[in-house]
Amino acid sequence: MRIALFGGTFDPPHRGHVALARLARERLSLDRILVAPVAVQPLKHETPPAGFDDRVAMTRLAFAGEPGVEISLLDAPRADGRSNYTIDTLTALRQQLNSADALFCILGADSFLTIGNWHRPADVLIACDFIVGARPGFDLSNIKVALPKSISAKPFVSDIPGVQLFKLARDGYASTLYLLTDLAEHVSATEIRAVLQGQAAAGRVLNPQVAKYIREHHLYVHL
Ligand code: ATP
Repeated sequence: MRIALFGGTFDPPHRGHVALARLARERLSLDRILVAPVAVQPLKHETPPAGFDDRVAMTRLAFAGEPGVEISLLDAPRADGRSNYTIDTLTALRQQLNSADALFCILGADSFLTIGNWHRPADVLIACDFIVGARPGFDLSNIKVALPKSISAKPFVSDIPGVQLFKLARDGYASTLYLLTDLAEHVSATEIRAVLQGQAAAGRVLNPQVAKYIREHHLYVHL
């Protein structure tokens, strides 16, 4: 069985998240993808605008009918209130699998480039194989700068179209990094929240009939 963890804030989940999961499943022949909204993301200092239960509900809707995808509560709020660290989630997940199962972690380029700031980054990088999707505005041409010094990265020839391969290693332990170089989803949860806030603000100052007229005549959508 080939199983991947796809964690994220999903605040809200959008087309880019689904496209990344789908491409990862197709290119790496994944059997199961566990999409896990995270309760407390250690690197995002502010509390997610939407609560955990709402983000789980939206994530279920966004991925409904997506082959191989299950929504997972592995990164639900912890009883001790601590942040949800990826190394803990991967370790817990590994314990539930058979020794023959292959474990992957799916990330977008922006998240992967911050990996040096994660909790125990070198341990994370050899805990499983990594599938990293390209994202407009984030440069994957020199991944070595993002890696902790104790991790070596050697490119090797890929027989999968649209996938670049690296062997990551430390102290005799190794993992594989798969870069999905042709993903190009121009969408961001931060921008979506800004648009929705703008619509709510407009709703408070417009006469409802004017708002209805604007919607029905598709005014201002191409500004
Ligand atoms: P924001 O857009 O505000 O930065 P986000 O969508 O990146 O938010 P998360 O919900 O935590 O934040 O993202 C979950 C994962 O999906 C992360 O690994 C992120 O890199 C990846 N991801 C999100 N959007 C895209 C995208 N447009 N292309 C590729 N990967 C993406």
